[in-house]
Amino acid sequence: IHPVYAQMERTVFDRMSALAREHGAINLGQGFPDGPPQPALIEAASRALHEKSNQYPPGAGLIELREAICGYYARRQGLALAPGQVTVTSGATEALAAAVFAFVKPGDEVILFQPAYDAYAPLVRRAGGIPVSIPLSPPDFCYPAKALEAAITPQTRVVMLNDPLNPAGTVARHEELAAIAQACTAHDLIAICDEVWEDVRFDGVPHHSLMRFPGMAERTVKIGSAGKIFGLTGWKVGWMIAAGDLATAISRAHQFLTYATAVPLQWAVAEGLSLPDAVLDGQRAAWAAARERLKAGLTEGGFVVLPNAATWFLNVDLAASGISLCDREFSERAVTEAGVASVPVSALYQGEDAPGHLVRFCFTKPLDVLDEAVSRLARFR
Ligand code: PMP
Ligand code: GLN
Repeated sequence: IHPVYAQMERTVFDRMSALAREHGAINLGQGFPDGPPQPALIEAASRALHEKSNQYPPGAGLIELREAICGYYARRQGLALAPGQVTVTSGATEALAAAVFAFVKPGDEVILFQPAYDAYAPLVRRAGGIPVSIPLSPPDFCYPAKALEAAITPQTRVVMLNDPLNPAGTVARHEELAAIAQACTAHDLIAICDEVWEDVRFDGVPHHSLMRFPGMAERTVKIGSAGKIFGLTGWKVGWMIAAGDLATAISRAHQFLTYATAVPLQWAVAEGLSLPDAVLDGQRAAWAAARERLKAGLTEGGFVVLPNAATWFLNVDLAASGISLCDREFSERAVTEAGVASVPVSALYQGEDAPGHLVRFCFTKPLDVLDEAVSRLARFR
């Protein structure tokens, strides 16, 4: 067994969902929306199953989907991309793996910010790289430019970034990203920018793609996921976008990870990305209403909730709420004793930096489910 996997636990998401099933708990742990999916996408997938080929698509993805991805980013982010820059992957997770394997050699240092999606560090290690973590502090989770400069060494090769940030629910400001871009260009680093939450934003908070900053187009891999944009997490359709040699390298890595991605779902996502903006805006409004409902309920129940501008997650500050349990203990007990699953935020930190007092709740659920979760938590605390 490779040493990276020798002592590894199951991911916190899998573990909390299993506990939720076992205890019949409301699952506000692993991030996914409940409720009816976008009918247009379900209908498109079903039509594709019946009417299109069910055999291997081109490895890089259907040209129709790659064109739709370019059209989507032109419309929503002002990016001028060509389909040849896009590789469709089996979820953003595969894109992360392909990008890390394409660039990280044994001994290379990769800068990660914490908290981070839990795939990042194991992927870097499996590639022989060395994760160098920079902690971000609640409640703002701002990117510390000085700490980034100090972490860069002659071995640094890649910076991995997740914006908007899961689990924090924050969105980086323009000047924070400008500083990261500046560090990348000054030290000739590649940026792997995980933007899966780019369209799950609220209150008009803007998102800036790192790729658009000066000097970044040729050194950024931008990663997206239909799972997040449409709330269809089980579809596992994602993509990665880069220019020139970077695009070639990541598509080569993808060839020998999965080669290709489920073709009927690619057709459906292509249709989805071409839907009028109003469809996505409507979905986001429903998610925003759910966020308000959970926030109001938790606040009324005496929990202190951190600000949220993006993602499907609200974070509760246990210490500020007068709860002395650490996050892991709280999550473990809340799922078994109160019947509500959550995610302890420290599970998304490596090493000593975890805050230990933050618990993440997914709010994209029917309002009555959120109300029931809140009353269980209020009784439990
Ligand atoms: N990156 C981040 C930051 C995520 O939150 C997630 C899923 N929650 C992923 C990547 C994985 O996305 P996918 O399901 O498309 O693999
Ligand atoms: N990243 C998702 C979340 O934050 C879960 C992904 C997974 O289960 N692997 O909940």
